[in-house]
Amino acid sequence: MKISELYKNKKRSLSFEIFPPKKDTELASIDETLKVLCELHPDFISVTFGAGGSANSNRTIEIAKNIKQNYGIEPVVHLTSLHYDKSEIDEFAKAMKEAGIENILALRGDRNPTIAEKDDFHHASDLIGYLKSKYDFCVLGACYPECHPESENKVSDMKGLKAKVDAGAEVLVSQLFFENQKFYDFQERCRIAGIEVPLIPGIMPVINANQIKRMISLCNASFPERFCRIIRRYENNSEALFDAGMSYCLSQIIDLIADGIPGIHLYTMNNPKVARRICDGIRNLV
Ligand code: FAD
Repeated sequence: MKISELYKNKKRSLSFEIFPPKKDTELASIDETLKVLCELHPDFISVTFGAGGSANSNRTIEIAKNIKQNYGIEPVVHLTSLHYDKSEIDEFAKAMKEAGIENILALRGDRNPTIAEKDDFHHASDLIGYLKSKYDFCVLGACYPECHPESENKVSDMKGLKAKVDAGAEVLVSQLFFENQKFYDFQERCRIAGIEVPLIPGIMPVINANQIKRMISLCNASFPERFCRIIRRYENNSEALFDAGMSYCLSQIIDLIADGIPGIHLYTMNNPKVARRICDGIRNLV
């Protein structure tokens, strides 16, 4: 099923994001994770993509195929393009078609000085346009409520995003954020710019101190004082930090649902305990 269909009946979607394990020996653990995630009946599960791998070496498509064929859940394959040319993207597309994949989250990918960039795809919009012109996948794109770190300002960020939608992105999934007002302001900017596709907020529950340090260096998200107070108090108490992180995340999600967002995308960090706790917390919310 194409993910864009979900939003035609105005049902709120619930989706999870997982990443392929780094080592082959850890592949079995992803099945343990998937068993629990699929019992929670998500509308889709997206699988991240490590930039620079080949169609054969990248585990993303294999895991997505497993999700579809063995668990009956719709997968979304992330696909980056900065380090590939058209023929390599065609190889991935072919592998996806053969695996029965219908949905792609099309990305430019992060710059990596150790991997040479190619010339065919400079922006995600180039990949989106290419996929839409040649194949019949449902194509999703990424968006950044607090702007992509390379964007000069909110106006240029919005222009880049509008280019993705004009190229054919049917749904946008957001970068994580900890302050809902940032997402609401972003939603308003999108509507003013004429972006009408569903905007799905991406939410990451904070569950350990190392993860927070990594996030500070990697993403553009601001950390509200209410959130920082929790971290300061519990950073050396892993159980308390887990509980507090889950409560913070749940309060964020409940507020977003009350606002009427079209879906929630949960960055599960391959931790099914996290997904289960969130699902328990929102089970009765309509
Ligand atoms: P783009 O949309 O190309 O944007 C990059 C910059 O270029 C922005 O500043 C934008 O404003 C500007 N821009 C965009 N289009 C144009 C245009 N037409 N003209 C001029 N400027 C333009 N990375 C991975 O490696 N693997 C993953 O699986 C992965 N999954 C992700 C999932 C989500 C939901 C998100 C939010 C991010 C994910 N990323 C992933 C990270 C992503 O690859 C990086 O954020 C990357 O730096 C940008 O990718 P993009 O597709 O958003 O790029």
